[in-house]
Amino acid sequence: MIAEVYIDIPANPVNKPFDYRIPEGLEEVVEPGMRVTVPFGRTRRLGFVTKLKNESSFKQLKTIDSVEDHHPVLTQELLELGDWLARTTLCTRVAAFQAMLPAAMKADYKKLIEVEQPDQLQASDPELASFLSKVKNPMWSEVVKHHPKLSNRMKRAISQGLLSIHQLVQNQARAKKVIHVSAAVSREQLENACAQMTARAIRQKEVLQFFVQQSDLSSFQLPLADLVNQGFSRDAVNKLEEKGLLHDEQVDHYRDPFLKKVEKTYPLDLTSEQSEALTPILESIEHEEHRVFLCHGVTGSGKTEIYLQSIQHVIAQSKQAIVLVPEISLTPQMVLRFKGRFGEQVAVMHSGLSRGEKYDEWRKIREGKVQVVVGARSAIFAPFKHLGLIIIDEEHESSYKQEDIPRYHARDVAIHRAKTHQCPVVLGSATPSLESFARAGKHVYTLLSLKKRVNQRPLPSVEIVDLREEMREGNHSVFSKILLEKIRDRLEKKEQTVLFLNRRGYSTFVMCRSCGTVVTCPHCDISLTYHRAQHLLKCHYCGYEQKMPDTCPTCASDAMRFFGTGTQKVEAELNRLLPEARVIRMDVDTTRKKGSHEHLLRQFGEEQADILLGTQMIAKGLDFPKVTLVGVLAADSLLHLPDFRASEKTFQLITQVSGRAGRHALPGEVVIQSYTPDHYAVIDAAHHDYEAFYQQEMELRHRAGYPPFYYLALISMTHPEPAKVAEAAERVASILNNNLSQSSQVYGPVVPAISKINDRYRYQCMVKYKREPALLPVLHKILQHFQESGKNNLQISIDLNPVVLM
Ligand code: ADP
Ligand code: ZN
Ligand code: ZN
Repeated sequence: MIAEVYIDIPANPVNKPFDYRIPEGLEEVVEPGMRVTVPFGRTRRLGFVTKLKNESSFKQLKTIDSVEDHHPVLTQELLELGDWLARTTLCTRVAAFQAMLPAAMKADYKKLIEVEQPDQLQASDPELASFLSKVKNPMWSEVVKHHPKLSNRMKRAISQGLLSIHQLVQNQARAKKVIHVSAAVSREQLENACAQMTARAIRQKEVLQFFVQQSDLSSFQLPLADLVNQGFSRDAVNKLEEKGLLHDEQVDHYRDPFLKKVEKTYPLDLTSEQSEALTPILESIEHEEHRVFLCHGVTGSGKTEIYLQSIQHVIAQSKQAIVLVPEISLTPQMVLRFKGRFGEQVAVMHSGLSRGEKYDEWRKIREGKVQVVVGARSAIFAPFKHLGLIIIDEEHESSYKQEDIPRYHARDVAIHRAKTHQCPVVLGSATPSLESFARAGKHVYTLLSLKKRVNQRPLPSVEIVDLREEMREGNHSVFSKILLEKIRDRLEKKEQTVLFLNRRGYSTFVMCRSCGTVVTCPHCDISLTYHRAQHLLKCHYCGYEQKMPDTCPTCASDAMRFFGTGTQKVEAELNRLLPEARVIRMDVDTTRKKGSHEHLLRQFGEEQADILLGTQMIAKGLDFPKVTLVGVLAADSLLHLPDFRASEKTFQLITQVSGRAGRHALPGEVVIQSYTPDHYAVIDAAHHDYEAFYQQEMELRHRAGYPPFYYLALISMTHPEPAKVAEAAERVASILNNNLSQSSQVYGPVVPAISKINDRYRYQCMVKYKREPALLPVLHKILQHFQESGKNNLQISIDLNPVVLM
């Protein structure tokens, strides 16, 4: 028996399987979808078995070392999905497979030191010999870390053949086991044993008496740790087990990050709009028919209730559902809505969980212990076997696109899986992506519209403030007069305000007022951001930091000043203008610690603060009854990014933030401050007019030849030397020009908006196309060419349908 194995090799240009012989005794064990350890070159690597066969065209086959799984970790469907991902995002099979598994299942390669010639080592380096003889399984990295002096001596011993290094492949995924203790014999036998024990065995007697007292003795068991905590002796329990009176057993333990009891909720009576939207989804579930629905509903229109009731039908059919939510909306509030309805049947996957917790949630899915997973992007790979529904909430969110290899979009993966399982996909949003809305317009997707908020609550009234006007009138504060007045009013009425500022420390760059020098990162082509707490300048791309200079590095004047507005600066200004206001600031800096996100939101929910000031992370999902005012401090901060989606993102963000106001009994108000108050993205968002925005934006996209009228492919190259990367980019452009059809256009090579990151210079080429059968093959060839000649330090990456263009 022979297995085809895709091997985990970093930067693997060989995207093909290798044949390995399955050793005797394992023929019955190895299955496609399992991970194995195999010898490869002079090392050992982890690999994925994708196929079994009887013959190989190669003569001398190596043999599989060991099998890592007792059960395939990838189903047949996921193996095929991996092929598709590799093909459509131009990544390796292994990268695709790994993206589908929790991080804990990545192999950990450790180097084990082995003594080959103990006598000679003893003679030449007795100290090293005695050290190694004392350590069990000495790991190279451990020894080097704790005894750096030994590393050179070990290297010498290796070159002399006295020591050798073995690669050890460790599977990091460990199910947590807990020991449970139960009675091994009947109550009568326990009583007899207890009576016969001598007085000296008092500790054992105590344990026996405890068990004898249990009314449901035959089914009674409890964790050993609990017994010990109650004061019983661990030693006594062990002795009783040896005597065959008690029995212990390893029980799987799931680390549950949501241990709290959740109050159960029940289906609500739907509004007529809601039922109209739900009906076709249920039909599609019923008829096992693949359809894609786009549920376009204003904020607060009750989309989540539609999701919940659809899932309920899926569960009733003994099928499973995946719900994707953007990472930053995956708040406890959100999770509780699903746990409240479906309780223990829900697994949750997001980046806030520890590795172990993620692995446990994944196991619950694989073992069929849950029917629903709520998670961020990668939950789309949940190993359910009978998918009945996939929901993507906030489908327009750019975080559904992975920026790393494999560069997949969760929406594409969802549709692909749903086709395989013949089930519906529901895309939900108040501001659908232009791509999706256009597809709905062409009836590729089915549009479901929810135009009203539940219970007829009105959408908040929106006022646009012209910041240029404020400047002219001499107001240089970040708050317009109107906004400040309204915040004061809310303070008096004991109502709450949410203030939104795009981006952490948005452009709090430092500029010299006399010569115009902006302090930039020495490794990246981008200005440094001022962080007040540490009085440091930081690069948000590579992490470089330096002290805030006292004088200008160019002209030595002392006119260095801060420009732009960051959350920290706004907070300081709030404290100055409204010293009585209690402010909570939420940005990357205040939410670094695990749990701090929830903590701050809870404080705000309990009205321990009057104002919540934050970045993107407060734009979504918040639902607090006392919030009656929302302020957008600089609506156009996104508009000027060099990105064709800048207007779309601005519209989405303003709409989303406005949606936080007046969701309950009290009516809401929104103030949008802008330097470009006549921009259609700002005006249409203020009027809650998605369709007007859509029409205008589509016209511009059409004229400029951007998605959804054309597809894009972005090829990016980097190299430490600008000439080398320019040369490579020229080659790529000419290969593209020579191989693609007339209808496709090749742009570039160009230097992108950020021309250098981490001391590597950047170039890009872009392809715009409608239908281009030659594209994937050519891109494959380009990748392979540059990766194989990869020694020259050129890095190339290809992004199909890119979300980030900079
Ligand atoms: P969306 O996801 O569209 O922004 P939500 O699902 O959050 O809207 O609904 C807004 C609020 O309305 C929630 O508090 C929800 O519980 C409530 N709600 C939804 N549907 C109904 C209904 N049919 N009857 C009463 N309340 C509802
Ligand atoms: Zn940098
Ligand atoms: Zn200067």
